[in-house]
Amino acid sequence: MTRPAIFLDRDGTLVHDPGYLASPHHVRLIDGVAAALVELDAAGFARVIITNQSGIGRGKFAVSDYDAVQVELARQLAAAGASTDGAFFCPHLPDAGCACRKPATGLHREAAARLDLDLAASWCIGDRISDVTAAAGLGARSVLVLTGEGKKHEEAAGRLGISVVADLGTAVAMILGSWN
Ligand SMILES: [Mg+2]
Ligand SMILES: [Zn+2]
Repeated sequence: MTRPAIFLDRDGTLVHDPGYLASPHHVRLIDGVAAALVELDAAGFARVIITNQSGIGRGKFAVSDYDAVQVELARQLAAAGASTDGAFFCPHLPDAGCACRKPATGLHREAAARLDLDLAASWCIGDRISDVTAAAGLGARSVLVLTGEGKKHEEAAGRLGISVVADLGTAVAMILGSWN
């Protein structure tokens, strides 16, 4: 069954971003994230993490460190009854010209193929303009959140007519049409 997805940035969107998050000891969920993921699941959305991890390409940390962070993130989410359907990362340097570093859409398309996702009914949510401009290439919609680096990217999002909201919980409330 083809499902819509919410493509979620990780650092600064799901978890606080200390800069090159590479230790499970530094994983701290942003308020409201677990509840938002539960609501999306109940509404039938796949929750898919798409994350640029150039720290790997820079040699700052290893794929095994990334994996350890993901395990801890999943553990914290599960403790709150939440989950995701998958996580896809780009390990490359920004100038590598790869097809997977956001705003490129290689990872989103890989996820869509593996998880049978309806891209036109999907959304991209993140704290950087590159997270949300990826949506245009997919025929999806997007929301910028003001957690993480969001304030630095707010003006650019506004110029592009992209919605800007406080955090993931607010973005999900907007997407599910339950403003209150
Ligand atoms: Mg981010
Ligand atoms: Zn890449």
